[in-house]
Amino acid sequence: MTDSLVKVENLKKYFPVKLGMFEGWRFENGKLKRNRLFVKAIDGVSFEIMKGDTFALVGESGCGKTTTGRTIVGLYKRTGGEIYFKGKPIDSFLKENPRDFKRNVQMIFQDPYSSLNPRMKVYQLISEPLRVHKLVKDKKEEREKVIEIMKNVGLEPEYMSRYPHQFSGGQRQRIAIGRALASEPEFIVADEPISALDVSIRAQILNLMEDLQEKYGLTYLFIAHDLSVVRHISNKVAVMYLGHIVEMGDTDEIFTHPLHPYTKTLFESIPSVEKVKQPLKVTIEGEVPSPINPPPGCPFHPRCPHATERCKKERPEIKEVSPGHYVACFLY
Ligand code: SF4
Repeated sequence: MTDSLVKVENLKKYFPVKLGMFEGWRFENGKLKRNRLFVKAIDGVSFEIMKGDTFALVGESGCGKTTTGRTIVGLYKRTGGEIYFKGKPIDSFLKENPRDFKRNVQMIFQDPYSSLNPRMKVYQLISEPLRVHKLVKDKKEEREKVIEIMKNVGLEPEYMSRYPHQFSGGQRQRIAIGRALASEPEFIVADEPISALDVSIRAQILNLMEDLQEKYGLTYLFIAHDLSVVRHISNKVAVMYLGHIVEMGDTDEIFTHPLHPYTKTLFESIPSVEKVKQPLKVTIEGEVPSPINPPPGCPFHPRCPHATERCKKERPEIKEVSPGHYVACFLY
């Protein structure tokens, strides 16, 4: 049986909206009261990532996938719900062993240039986590380890005295991966790690991530909007829409038997998706509704060609419709 590494239950993250002088206040029963509005970036998301998985989160921009990743690694404080790491609620894990969590959980960002300190040389960028987490005993071991990591991510050790701006985009992402690997993590959140890169080097970075996963037994949460990439790299996938997971399951199953109308339209709208067996005829219309004022009922109903009166009033719970395949839709 595989071990659970990360589990999120009913995770919520709301961001307060800054209101102007007039919309920020209202009169109620003769008293002046403050209006509060929130962007419900994630609104009750649950999933489990097993050790060794590459779990992909997909959806249109603004669906909450990046917020989910950032909330799990602790860059955002959650509004509600629970996160478990190795079976323990995150708050107790952090209380008992804060360094262990920071060492074990790393994030790779979309833009390697802005995620790397431009004033630090490659050596400093990679050796810093080694020192912070006391993973080397002296300078000699530190240097050996930096050389080993650089080789493992496909960088020439002779470039260790260079600054990030002296590298190409793909090489900078290799530095970012090397820095993330230095703390010997078990879990990496990769937020669109190849979408800012030149098309010609995307495959190289993907292959590198796969090789490193095998070598170090890594577990990934892979956030992406390119479905062909998701199909290639992940073994589990969750489709997000307006802060909710609408469909989730094994990657092969979701790609060959997509059920949710949103998943179908998403697959149809991206031309690079390959081997979706049935020709999908559903077309998506309209904009994603505002997460400040989400529609009642099913969040997808204003754009769904199958919406009924029930869909406008009730929100469908996510249910297991076949072993390991979950869908939130009244059609199933
Ligand atoms: Fe469409 Fe209704 Fe299913 Fe939502 S619940 S996806 S509106 S059919």
